[in-house]
Amino acid sequence: MNQNQSLYIDGCWHDGTSTIESRNPSDRSDLIGHFAQATADQLDHALDAARRGQESWWAAGVQKRHNVLMEIGNELMARADELGHIIAREEGKPLAEAKGEAYRAGQFFTYFAGECLRNQGDLAESVRLGVEIDVRREPIGLVAIISPWNFPIATPAWKIAPALAFGNAVVWKPANLTPASAVALSEIIARQDIPAGVFNMILGSGREVGQRLVESPKVDAISFTGSVDVGRGIAATAIANMTKIQMEMGSKNPMLIMDDCDLELAVVNATNAAFGGTGQKCTAASRLIVHSAIHDEFVDRLAAAAKALKVGHALEAGTQIGPVISEGQLAQNLAYIDKGRAEGAELVCGGTRLQRETDGYFMAPAVFAGTRNNMTINSEEMFAPITCVIKADSYSEALAIANDSQFGLTAGIMTRSLSRANHFRSNVRAGCVMVNLPTAGTDYHVPFGGRGASSYGPREQGRYAAEFYTTLKTTYIAAGTPE
Ligand code: NDP
Repeated sequence: MNQNQSLYIDGCWHDGTSTIESRNPSDRSDLIGHFAQATADQLDHALDAARRGQESWWAAGVQKRHNVLMEIGNELMARADELGHIIAREEGKPLAEAKGEAYRAGQFFTYFAGECLRNQGDLAESVRLGVEIDVRREPIGLVAIISPWNFPIATPAWKIAPALAFGNAVVWKPANLTPASAVALSEIIARQDIPAGVFNMILGSGREVGQRLVESPKVDAISFTGSVDVGRGIAATAIANMTKIQMEMGSKNPMLIMDDCDLELAVVNATNAAFGGTGQKCTAASRLIVHSAIHDEFVDRLAAAAKALKVGHALEAGTQIGPVISEGQLAQNLAYIDKGRAEGAELVCGGTRLQRETDGYFMAPAVFAGTRNNMTINSEEMFAPITCVIKADSYSEALAIANDSQFGLTAGIMTRSLSRANHFRSNVRAGCVMVNLPTAGTDYHVPFGGRGASSYGPREQGRYAAEFYTTLKTTYIAAGTPE
């Protein structure tokens, strides 16, 4: 495919009237390509095509949808190495993580291939004699999907797969920072035998194309992952249009490190959760709430582990931490380092820009100690390889700190105490709880989402995804009496 023809609308690849460049964040001299930007007319074309395509797709039946999703999933898994290479080059996560992402994207499709067949309804007895009732799930219709750059193939996969499984049409606006990954996934979907218009991918800036997409009354539902501010704007627009919404946004995930934990495991899990994916994960552990009895030793060991991480080119063997996504993100991260120090936190290690052989956005993983929960670095999502240690004198104090946040996506505890683990599971305000595990790292077949400003609307993933991607229909039938 000609890279300029990077918009997939109504069953065909299209040029735009302008293009953007995608460059490798590990090496700015590595130009990945030029990618078309959709015009308003092209977006309208995609929306009209999707409305037409959706009816034929629903009519095609579950076996057809199952087969298509299986094909997509199997191809993603079979080509995980090659697709992982694209993700690592464009997004900057180390190659092993990037391959894992591509494989995981395939698992979302094969899982939802199964859900196509499991889309069963209910029968109910009526309170009126001679009347029967059934409750069935039908497609919501046209789903707009808006995804971020940090999981450029997996996040759209966990939205597109259920949308298609339940008979909907999709107009997907990926992040402009990762267009090559979006094109790679779209090529696999576009090769399937599906009605024109069922799947459309339009690249363009969020503020223009994204905004026009969410404002369209032709859209029945919007699934968004990204920042809180953009999410709030989308929610306001959607509510004015009565459009169904599902949003995954920011986080400030707490991880409690208790005095009875396996300290070595706690350091491994905290390092993994804080710095995996260069800290650019909504599930990253950004607040480490550590019991005072083990605080100093934990901080020393964590700093040693952070300093030992190999930061470098995402495609280089042995790299554990790739670059951050962009110059803007790096500048924002360094500004948070300054802000943390200005507010009185102690920078134990990292927090500086690193030079490597290639010109990339490398940053040394940072650990702040001596932080208070009300500091900016503990309140705002940084999306950076920066983690903050907060000291607590007891489990109860640690739990109270964990819950003192506008967010509530994931929360973890490191403890050998079953009663503490159990109490934490029941009382922490979060959508996902991890006991003796990193806060990041979730399965593909169970619900994912959070509370407060982290999420809004029905959960994503697993069989619960049906709540968002379908609408219920209740039918009453007067059975009558045979002649
Ligand atoms: P944004 O929320 O700006 O972008 C997410 C997606 O929304 C992108 O596809 C973007 O398009 C699109 N978008 C932007 N504005 C609009 C709009 N008005 N209407 C519709 N769509 C829109 O996040 P960023 O990528 O800019 O990242 C900024 C910060 O957001 C990060 O530093 C991090 O804190 C947070 N974030 C959180 C994520 C999470 O999973 N919790 C994921 C990503 C970001 P485009 O990129 O083309 O402008």
